Amino acid sequence: MENNILSNRVFKMSESATLAMTKKSRELKEKGFDVINLSIGQPDFFVPDFIKKAAKQAIDDNFSGYPPVSGYADLRNAVTEKLKRDNGLHYSPDQIVVSTGAKQAIANVFLAILNPGDEVVVPAPYWVSYTELIKLAEGIPVYVNTRIEDEFKASPDQIKAAITSKTKAFIFSSPNNPSGTVYTNEELRSIAELFSAYPNITIVSDEIYELINFGGKTTSIGIFDGIKDRVVTVNGLSKAFAMPGWRLGYSAAPLPIAKAIEKVQGQVTSGANAVAQVAAITALKANPSDCTEFQEMKKAFNERRDYIIRRISDIPGMIPNNPGGAFYVFPNVAELYGLSNGEHTINNDNDLCMYLLNKANVALVPGSAFGDPNCIRFSYAASMEQIKEALDRIEKAVLELK
Ligand code: PMP
Ligand code: GLU
Repeated sequence: MENNILSNRVFKMSESATLAMTKKSRELKEKGFDVINLSIGQPDFFVPDFIKKAAKQAIDDNFSGYPPVSGYADLRNAVTEKLKRDNGLHYSPDQIVVSTGAKQAIANVFLAILNPGDEVVVPAPYWVSYTELIKLAEGIPVYVNTRIEDEFKASPDQIKAAITSKTKAFIFSSPNNPSGTVYTNEELRSIAELFSAYPNITIVSDEIYELINFGGKTTSIGIFDGIKDRVVTVNGLSKAFAMPGWRLGYSAAPLPIAKAIEKVQGQVTSGANAVAQVAAITALKANPSDCTEFQEMKKAFNERRDYIIRRISDIPGMIPNNPGGAFYVFPNVAELYGLSNGEHTINNDNDLCMYLLNKANVALVPGSAFGDPNCIRFSYAASMEQIKEALDRIEKAVLELK
């Protein structure tokens, strides 16, 4: 009965695994369990004071009406300036649409460009929401499986093999969630060269972790000739400015796509939160290298990354990857499959995450949600004390498996 009232569209998509695991850990905490949540990717830092001040001022200045659907003109200008300054991208303000998080920006893109049955090529591992948002828009995700031995990078040949006459788009992120993989400038150039032979394919570049990288600067694929006029660049303030709850992101897209996104968004949310938009102008005008809060956050992530990789490599059966950015590690844990502590047998990534949640009270996310069931995801967006304690508990629980 209940099935009849819901759409097929909803049955075809899965719940967000990152948010589901966080919900489980919250429920256990409410029951009194001392759960350490390494499942969600949100910075455990506060919003820099100069951004908070701008938001408070926006409230006092009565920014309480509906903003323009695509965002305040000043913010769209600030986005174009930021994309020029930091990324070498040349979008005009009318190509920018400000959204309720990068998540909505991505949903908007797929709703704007996909017809039922259109295919979108997605390198795996991928962020959990790409595939489900493609399905929500009645498209079909086509996976390109990558290997930990190749740093989870998709080669142009692998991507080419996934392209068909139905391919409408390609989506990827660098730095990647869940692997933290960062593509080099040369690697992106060769992917861009591949797509220059496919003029009908839109490239969606999710750059939300752009500033959280440990090897210098990242490259935006939209700089390369041959594809630059059909790249949608997505970014937001959730990660670099520690503002996930403010829900502010944006897309920069070819004009017809930007107009379609505006049309979709105008019917769904009427535009992003006005106060957050005004604060975002101040945030984007700041140069990250001059922002001490940001530099301190990045330094802390770098230290935690080194620590967590070392601890994971000391746990028998866990082989960490070597992330160059974001705040995740995505170790291969397949050697643990088939082991048991006498009470619970670990048959897969879901069993392992449930075992670690119940036994060690640490919340992680199964790799299958990101398209790789041999791995699990650790988020190190948590304090060093929490990470240490979590790894002590995980090590103990894993050593009980024989
Ligand atoms: N892209 C990636 C790769 C992410 O990890 C996230 C996580 N939130 C998002 C987009 C969406 O970010 P938000 O909606 O908070 O801007
Ligand atoms: N992107 C973060 C994560 O992967 C936040 C949760 C979500 O929206 O998926 O954990």
